[in-house]
Amino acid sequence: MTLSAATDSDLARALERFAGELGQDAVAGDPQVLQAFRDPFPLGDPDEFRAAGILSPSSVEEVRAIVRLANELGVALWPVSRGRNNAYGGPSPRRRGSFIVELSRMDRVLEVDEDSALAVVEPGVRFFDLYDHLRAHEHRLWVSVADLGWGSVLGNGLDRGMGYTAYGDHAAMQCGLEVVLPDGDLVRTGMGAMSHGAAWHLYAPGFGPAVDGLFRQSNLGIVTRGGVWLMPTPEVFTCVDVVVFGFDDLEPLVDALRPLKLDGTIEGSAAIREPMLATSKLDARSRFYDGAGPAPEEAVQEMMRAHGLGRWTLSFAVYGSEARVAADLQAIRRAFARVPGAEVLERTYAGDVGADDVALADRTRAGIPGMYSETLPDWRAASPGSGRHVCFSPVLPLRGRPAIELATRLREIVEGAGFDYIGTYHVGKRHLSHVVEIIWDGTEDAQTAAARGVFGELVATAAELGYGEYRTHIAFMDQVAAQFDFNDHALLRLQRKLKDAMDPNGILAPGKSGIWSGR
Ligand code: ADP
Repeated sequence: MTLSAATDSDLARALERFAGELGQDAVAGDPQVLQAFRDPFPLGDPDEFRAAGILSPSSVEEVRAIVRLANELGVALWPVSRGRNNAYGGPSPRRRGSFIVELSRMDRVLEVDEDSALAVVEPGVRFFDLYDHLRAHEHRLWVSVADLGWGSVLGNGLDRGMGYTAYGDHAAMQCGLEVVLPDGDLVRTGMGAMSHGAAWHLYAPGFGPAVDGLFRQSNLGIVTRGGVWLMPTPEVFTCVDVVVFGFDDLEPLVDALRPLKLDGTIEGSAAIREPMLATSKLDARSRFYDGAGPAPEEAVQEMMRAHGLGRWTLSFAVYGSEARVAADLQAIRRAFARVPGAEVLERTYAGDVGADDVALADRTRAGIPGMYSETLPDWRAASPGSGRHVCFSPVLPLRGRPAIELATRLREIVEGAGFDYIGTYHVGKRHLSHVVEIIWDGTEDAQTAAARGVFGELVATAAELGYGEYRTHIAFMDQVAAQFDFNDHALLRLQRKLKDAMDPNGILAPGKSGIWSGR
């Protein structure tokens, strides 16, 4: 039985059985509650990915009970931590009729180890919560935060989200997971596999094949706790913006940046943004352009003048002792002096600066959570709240030529479909993740259809250049997975083998990342 095909009475019985395990207040199936767990930015029919019910366990044992019952009833589960995966589907399940297992009630900070600079948290802990906990207990530790502080620390890392400090690679900063498997078994990864493992959250690999990666962007387990490495509060930090004024200046900017990433001068995250992202936080698009189609270049130039922005701005920070930061800054100034017309802006703070004393644009670089990109979806909205966005996120080399080539081609496609080309290049050690924001007004059906339609062209264009996506909206998971086609899709075949072995009834997050079970 699959619930999408099941009758109302099957559904009512399933909800009743879940309520028997969790209590009535932890189970919901009424339309009002389901409404709150829909993708806030649907790409068409808002019910395309509708859940059958919402389950809110409070403990690991309850999660295990849910999984066992799902196997018995033959219903699908879709686990989320806080379900704020907006622009990628929010809390919505890939398969309609799945039960969302939302973990917001499991929201304890279980441990903070100041000496080893780490925390152990449950999946319901948000960036806001961990930040507040660290400040309330006067820990000299920073958490790396995403753009929106309401997301969960663990869920964001499990979907390979990013922050903006030296610890901005959130998946890489997770160390040691506890996971409920699709058959209800419970494992602890790495050194946590020992009953008294003392190095669980210090050394991720453990002994033998490491399995943590199996639980990221996957449907092989529900993570119920995890270790997160935190950054010791630095003596000082300097936020650096490198501003260039021509669209094609992206190329020399990226090439000047690469050696600084490779030699560790810029240790952590960096991001290169075009000016509409910053403008969306400060101003209304309609002040610059109110016509149909994408904002013309003159309007973009006007935004740049109004807010003192470049055509591209590279933003990052350097952290450490005063001497180290001073030496890093010297190397940084030297490197970007070679980029014609580039301006380097610097703002230095003491590591223990109060949140209010950090400029708004610098706060994510200081690990201070907020709702910084909250206004972005309404960039094209006809009325407040009617805006939508979806992200297209290909991965390419950290080199200038590929970056400008991709930017130019994607801009043509996106603008050709009637959208602004708005994007960020997130900078890794050797790669760029280009996150292109497609933003539209949800009350305009033609725009919604165009947003969905253009995606296929973007995926195909990136694939032609050899670039696959690092993450995608639920509506495009099959399409994106299909691009990974070496040797007749050998990787996907392996992922499906694992899926069938670990989840023979196919109850956990069917379709996540394009992985469906044999059933
Ligand atoms: P956020 O932290 O932004 O609220 P979500 O909770 O929406 O993020 O999680 C993002 C995605 O990561 C989910 O769609 C799901 O696929 C996966 N995920 C989140 N939490 C868990 C978890 N505890 N166990 C397994 N997968 C998870």
